[in-house]
Amino acid sequence: MNFKQIKELLSYYLHFRQKPLVIQMPITSRCNSRCKTCNIWKLSDHVDIDHEALKKALRDPFFSQVKTVGLNGGEFTLVPNFIDIINSVLILPQIKDIYCISNGLAPKRLFEYLEKAKEICKQKSVKIHICISVDGYGKVQEEVRGIPNCFKKTKEILDFLSTNKDKYCDDFSVGCTISIHNIDFIKETEMFLNTYNNLQVEYHCAIPNKRILTFDNADYYVLNDERKRIQAAEFFFEKCITSKSLHKRIQYFSNFYFLTHNGHNRLNICSYTNRDVTIDEKLNLLLCATASEVIGNLKEKSATELTKTKCYKKTQKEILNLCDNCVHYTYHPLTIRGRVEYIKFYMRNRYVWQYYNIQRKEKSFFSVHINFYKQFTIELLRQIYHLLWKLQ
Ligand code: SF4
Repeated sequence: MNFKQIKELLSYYLHFRQKPLVIQMPITSRCNSRCKTCNIWKLSDHVDIDHEALKKALRDPFFSQVKTVGLNGGEFTLVPNFIDIINSVLILPQIKDIYCISNGLAPKRLFEYLEKAKEICKQKSVKIHICISVDGYGKVQEEVRGIPNCFKKTKEILDFLSTNKDKYCDDFSVGCTISIHNIDFIKETEMFLNTYNNLQVEYHCAIPNKRILTFDNADYYVLNDERKRIQAAEFFFEKCITSKSLHKRIQYFSNFYFLTHNGHNRLNICSYTNRDVTIDEKLNLLLCATASEVIGNLKEKSATELTKTKCYKKTQKEILNLCDNCVHYTYHPLTIRGRVEYIKFYMRNRYVWQYYNIQRKEKSFFSVHINFYKQFTIELLRQIYHLLWKLQ
């Protein structure tokens, strides 16, 4: 653990805010989908972010450390001046990565925008990443999106990007949002996505979310149906046991643990409590997009001014009270408690069967017991070293 990481942990536990490294940026409220897990498309006013005002707002020294910007919506391919927005984001002095999320319903415009964006970003050594939302295979995707015959467009994008990625982006991945509408078919979706070689897929639960206007009524949430909650927990358990990377195993473990605790006991830190922020399409400044109220508008005040207001501190306090019930951003590092829980889980899974076998043999030799406890202790120390000290 280096000094920066220790500072990060202290900032999280002591609740002092640092300058943001990441901005989440929903740039439009327009959408061409009718997703069952989102209400943005029901809005009648279609607002795109004002790129000139955005550029002005991002010049504030508060944003001087931002390295990553996530652009989403609504649907970003519907924004006519998307490239101007990219240019506004590129004025950030430390920017390194731009992540875009698309519902995959407009292949032609997506490729056109990505090609141009990649060209501009390359000149500034900024990487562009695209994540396509795939919530099911065939009819399941169409049901969740609420758009008949849309799966072929999504598949067209996946097929094309998996062989022609370099022209359009530096990195391409899929996000699969799990809800009561698709959990019954999750293995089918997984099998379909596994047909693409080396495709990165991010599975996460659809949760109540203020930004997409579902905070008070998230009927799609798997916690609303006991059978589906258990199905989702089983899915994450299997992913946790079978994933090759430690980071993935930990991420899936957090989801599994949260679901088996009925939507409580978050095990990851969340950088939106102490560092990162959201700027929405109206240029409102918020902390996380999930639970934060609007702190103020960046057309009226600079971010530096807004972070000195009472509303900023109040909002920070409020979201902290909600984090335990939130399973967003499980790719953020584990809390110390999360690391201890993971070690317990891992050791139990790895040794319980061996232990049971030793105990049930009436005459097992003393040396067998000694050997078992020796192995167990070495592995436990190894896990403590990795999870409590080395792992970020
Ligand atoms: S409510 Fe969720 S997204 Fe918001 S700060 Fe807490 S953990 Fe992060």
